[in-house]
Amino acid sequence: MRKKIIAGNWKMNMTPTETKELISKLKDKCNIDEVDVLFVVPAIDVTTAAECLKGTKIKLGTQNFYYEEKGAYTGETSAKMILDAGATYVIIGHSERRGIFKEDDEMINKKLIAAHKFGLKPILCCGESLELREKGTYKLFIEGQIRSAFDGISKDQAIDTVIAYEPIWAIGTGKTATSEEAEEVCKFIRETIKNLYDVETSDKVRIQYGGSVNAGNAKELFGKEDIDGGLVGGASLKEEFINIVNYK
Ligand code: PEP
Repeated sequence: MRKKIIAGNWKMNMTPTETKELISKLKDKCNIDEVDVLFVVPAIDVTTAAECLKGTKIKLGTQNFYYEEKGAYTGETSAKMILDAGATYVIIGHSERRGIFKEDDEMINKKLIAAHKFGLKPILCCGESLELREKGTYKLFIEGQIRSAFDGISKDQAIDTVIAYEPIWAIGTGKTATSEEAEEVCKFIRETIKNLYDVETSDKVRIQYGGSVNAGNAKELFGKEDIDGGLVGGASLKEEFINIVNYK
């Protein structure tokens, strides 16, 4: 039985001061056993968030890192820095990083390998554009993203990777995929993992859905067989996130 994992991606929102305020509003009601709850905050907020979350079960992550261990990479953040600041998870390959910051499949693969090597738990994002959805070739595209990201990743590392299916047309648009559309692709991703590894790996890997998840649609989406929780953007910055993590 896979434990659900619900993560709030704060994107480029919240100063350290605002982080304290938001966490104080959310933490008691998000401090639950039934699901893994995760706040994915900007790197600058990790230390503050870690301090605020002490004594709770809520896990902490950040939204990006660089795959090299250290050195002359101005502006970048290493895995060691993130871990030392108090976060354990990292998002890799979010469509905003792929699109705006031109991160390609090769870089995403390097980041997935490095996250495991340095001890960060990755949330690997994949998902198609509206154009590919309408063309009907979205599954082929997603299979390519998964195959490329997992190149060189061992079975144990694959099990320890959370995958987030995030159709780009549903991110920040208010246009959620139907639970059937989301389930179809999450099942397909599990099948792809089975083909790359084995049934044990595909049974254990957790696959989230992300794209305009809110308090009104969480129960229906997370009730699907192959959807093991969500990656939540906009709604994670509001008290609504409490209702999402307590969706049952
Ligand atoms: C996201 O940030 O990954 C996301 C899915 O955003 P939203 O929930 O706002 O669509």
